[in-house]
Parts: sequence; structure tokens; C-alpha cells
Amino acid sequence: MSAVLHLKKGRDESLERFHPWLFSGAVASIEGNPQDGDVVEIRSASGAFRATGHYQHGSIAVRILSFTPSAIDDRFWLHALQTAYRLRRDLRLANHPQTTAYRLVHGEGDFLPGLVIDIYGATAVIQTHSAGMSRMQTEIAAALQTIYGAALQRIYCKSAAAAPDSDDRYLAGSPPATAGDVIMENGHRFIVDWETGQKTGFFLDQRDNRRLLAHYAQGRRVLNLFCYTGGFSVYAGAAGAAAVHSVDSSAKAIELTRQNATLNAPHAPHEAFVADAFEFLKQAPDNAYDLLIVDPPAFAKHAAARRNALQAYKRLNALAIAKTAPGGLLFTFSCSQIVSRTDFRQAVFSAAAIAQRPVRILHHLSQPPDHPVNIYHPEGEYLKGLALTVSNEQWS
Ligand code: SAH
Repeated sequence: MSAVLHLKKGRDESLERFHPWLFSGAVASIEGNPQDGDVVEIRSASGAFRATGHYQHGSIAVRILSFTPSAIDDRFWLHALQTAYRLRRDLRLANHPQTTAYRLVHGEGDFLPGLVIDIYGATAVIQTHSAGMSRMQTEIAAALQTIYGAALQRIYCKSAAAAPDSDDRYLAGSPPATAGDVIMENGHRFIVDWETGQKTGFFLDQRDNRRLLAHYAQGRRVLNLFCYTGGFSVYAGAAGAAAVHSVDSSAKAIELTRQNATLNAPHAPHEAFVADAFEFLKQAPDNAYDLLIVDPPAFAKHAAARRNALQAYKRLNALAIAKTAPGGLLFTFSCSQIVSRTDFRQAVFSAAAIAQRPVRILHHLSQPPDHPVNIYHPEGEYLKGLALTVSNEQWS
């Protein structure tokens, strides 16, 4: 018998709107003694069933798994992951000859708050962000094996940094002979090292934006700031960029960028630098680059940091706009969840005004559809970007 959380009178609103989290402030009383990670039931003040989900102490009391009465058992996990898989198949990502890496489960975006699963060829990497999901790792791994069969050689759980009471280990299969594996994305090859890389090893969320960038890269001098493993650089090189410079503050990232550049186009004019992106931009000669990518890590992880983050986006983009050669383009991003699309656009607008350049928006950029946004959880729309053109005329 699972514990039951009874809501305060009139506090059903978020559940009526299918928000995937129940905040502790809405709870009147708890029947039973739930521990972190237990499956609990939520009932309204009148006693009506509302939802089932994973309980955890803290401001988010329950991460909701179902709005209808249902057992959270092996059948539930198999059905949930099959549903996620079918979407990726419809998106033509599963079983694609040119793209072997995609996100299978994107937390709330797949109605599975606290769970991320990325597929890298024959390897699945699971990242759990809640006590409840951490406890379900065995069931989730079993469902993955049922869905993929022999196509899945190993399942790696990479949750030590993300969840309480979890660790990094293989749940199925064994480590590859050499670290990581080579995946394909739109025909380009990348080394992904899920054990030591950032996040689950690769930034899958920039796939579509990299493809768009390739469209503009021919003959241009490209500067890829915050390049990580060089995703944008590889696409630009393959598309015939005149030169590609990649910058990241992490030496490991730059090493991987160099390897990926060589793997795809050993003779492309590519150089990679371990450097602070702000400093590199400041010191870059004027008019040296006519296609810039600015994809920094989240500047704000909490609401309290939002204002400072907006200032940082403004400063960074003012510099980038100032350094874009006339007639050049700038692809600029924010992956901070608490910085909205409107906020980000405002920061870039202020940056353009500081740089006093004629800037126009060509594309509004976003996360790809294997990172779907649950409409009841707008916070899930975390990646936003703008592709800008900086015209020839000088306004200052
Ligand atoms: N564009 C990348 C993902 C960027 S993730 C891709 O397509 O895969 C953000 C990167 O910024 C990380 O690799 C991190 O090492 C790097 N970084 C963080 N702070 C930095 C700084 N001040 N200067 C340069 N790089 C930085």
C-alpha cells in the first residue's frame, strides 16, 4: 500500500493543468511514512484520486508518473519506454543510417520526470535526476533490453553527479575495449566518451542547429566558441569553411575536438585553442571571422542567478556582435532553463545596441524534437538561440 499525500483545499490547480511536479506547499497531510524515491498517491481534499508519482523530501514533493490510477511496475516502464522509442522512430532517428545517436527519454518531455536516456550507437546512457528514478534503474534497463534486443550491447548508468544515492556503473554489458565509441550525426563522426565526458558525453541537442550552420559555412571563416567536442566545427569544416577556429576552456574538450576534426576531414583548415572564450574574443582581431557560434554553458542554474546571467549574455553577445565581420553571421544560444526566450532575445537586443551594429534575426533556434517540450511544463524549453546577420553598413 503506497503512502497518500492529501492536498490542501483548492490546491489542485497544478494537477488539473497536468504539471509534472507537485510542490510541497500544496500538501495538507501525508498518510503513511514515505521515503525518498517511494511511489505515492496524491488525493485532493475531497479524497479524489489525482496522480501517482515519485516522492522526495524538498520543494518538489512528487514527480508525477501518471494522472490515472496505474501500477508503476515492469509493464509501466516497458510501455513508457516503448512510447518514447516510437516517437524517435517517427522522427526517423531510431535506425537511421546517418545518425546513430539520439535522446530516447527527455525527462518531463517524455512524461518521465527525473529520467534522461541517450542512445549512442550500441550503448544506452541513463541519467537519473531523482531518488525515485535512481531506484528504478534495473527495471528501466530491463525495458531497454526488451525494446532494443541484441542491438544494445551495453547500458551505462551515469548518475553519481545528478542524483542522490546513485553511482556510475554498467547495468548491462561491459565497457568497450577503448574508452567510448564513434557515433554518427548527419553523416559526421564523433567520438563520444560517456564515462568521462560532460553530461552523458555529447550535446545531442544541437544536432539540427549544426545542420543549419553547415548551410551557411562554405567559404566563411568560422569561430566556434564553447566548442566542447567540436560539433559545430566538424559540420563547418565539412561544408567547406575557409577556416575553423574552435575554443573551449577545457583541455580535454579541445583534445576531443581535434580528434573529431581529424576523424572527419584531416586536411580541413582547423585550429583548436584552450582558452577562455571572453578573453579569446576580446583579443581576436576585428573582421577576422564571418561566422561565429556562441554556445556557453548555462549561466544561471537558479532563479536567484537570473539577473547576473542576463548581464553575462549581454556582455558576451555585445563582444561577439562587435567582432563579426560585416556581412557575417552569429549563431548565439542560451541553455539556461530559467532564462526565457523573451529574456534571451532582450539580452541580445541590448548587446546589439551596445555594439551599434545593424543586426537582423534570420532564424529562431531551439532544441530538436527528440528533446520534446511537455506543453504543461514550459520550463522544459531550455535551449534557445538566434541566428543573426550583421550587415555591411556601419552605424558607428
Ligand atoms: N557547443 C557545444 C556544447 C557547449 S557546452 C557542442 O555543440 O557540443 C559548453 C562548453 O563551454 C563546455 O565544453 C565547457 O568546457 C565550455 N566552457 C565553460 N566556460 C568556458 C569559458 N569561460 N570559456 C570557454 N569555454 C568554456
